[in-house]
Amino acid sequence: METKIITELTRENLQLVAHALRHGDVVAIPTETVYGLGANGLDADAMDKIYAAKGRPSDNPLILHVPNAESIKPLVKEIPNTAKALIKAFWPGPLTITLPKSDLVPDRATGGLNRVALRCPNHAVCRDILELAGVPIAAPSANISGRPSPTSAQAVYDDMNGRIPYIVDAGICTIGVESTVVEVRDDGVTILRPGGITKEMLEQVVDNVSYDPFLSSQNEAPKAPGMKYKHYAPDAPMRAFIGNPKDVAEAFNNVIHEQENKRGAFLVSQETYELLKDSVHGEFQVYGHSGDAVALAHDFYKTLHHFNECDVDYILAEGVQNTGLGVAVMNRMEKACAGHIIYV
Ligand code: AMP
Ligand code: MG
Repeated sequence: METKIITELTRENLQLVAHALRHGDVVAIPTETVYGLGANGLDADAMDKIYAAKGRPSDNPLILHVPNAESIKPLVKEIPNTAKALIKAFWPGPLTITLPKSDLVPDRATGGLNRVALRCPNHAVCRDILELAGVPIAAPSANISGRPSPTSAQAVYDDMNGRIPYIVDAGICTIGVESTVVEVRDDGVTILRPGGITKEMLEQVVDNVSYDPFLSSQNEAPKAPGMKYKHYAPDAPMRAFIGNPKDVAEAFNNVIHEQENKRGAFLVSQETYELLKDSVHGEFQVYGHSGDAVALAHDFYKTLHHFNECDVDYILAEGVQNTGLGVAVMNRMEKACAGHIIYV
């Protein structure tokens, strides 16, 4: 199959894509978080094609994307007041809510669970496509399972060339990490996956916000099945350090010394870069000021893709503290590092 990248976002082209989606094709679409691999969320056969294209484990359910809040009514049994408040505050945006599903939603969308995950993206092109398609669109990240999520059409192409007919190219994703996934009940919400909407932001709107215990202990099974899988791994082994730039630079220097003849790649803040640039050779990517979780989120997957292309032997990254958007970024970084995160 030839994969065509659509760069001219005319009404005609978006209609072509929406038609393909409605009729069972898989198409990569842009969102504000990462690129998604879309298919008709009411059509089990179409969703099977997503699992095949990604090599996604079949128990890992999909998020259904809708153009507006109104569209979720036929997909769920009921909408508790907590859900209404969250939707009012954060949609369109990077918040996915799970609610008890109606019979209209095929088990293929939910991996057999009785809840369905729903999101209205804050991306004009994406919402136009959703409107035109007229059906909810199931869309996991448009990467091969286990690899870094794509934040550009080119990154989608690298993984999906030959597997899907179209990629809609709307440039680089603004947020850069996936949505927050929350289970919503009458009495509160549980964060199953940290993302663009932080715990602090949720607490401004609803009472009783907690993290799924799996996120801190990993002893129990996660409530979001996808969280148990290894994710986001770059080709080269990666380690991360968190601390002030001086200590991070010293920790980097120690590893670089041990690695001698190996080729390293370094994802760092501006401040740490200043401390290393004169003495260290290797591939540098600078994301912004020390501690800037928003800048790190924006550049994180893009950088992992870039390091894969550079064919490096090892990767060192400078992380940020676990607060605000930092929780989401460090959750991804920890997986990319297979747990090798060191506070210095
Ligand atoms: P992705 O599609 O790659 O952004 O991943 C979607 C995430 O949402 C995965 O971690 C899924 O396990 C999770 N998810 C989707 N549907 C549900 C659901 N009904 N209940 C719990 N988690 C879900
Ligand atoms: Mg994913």
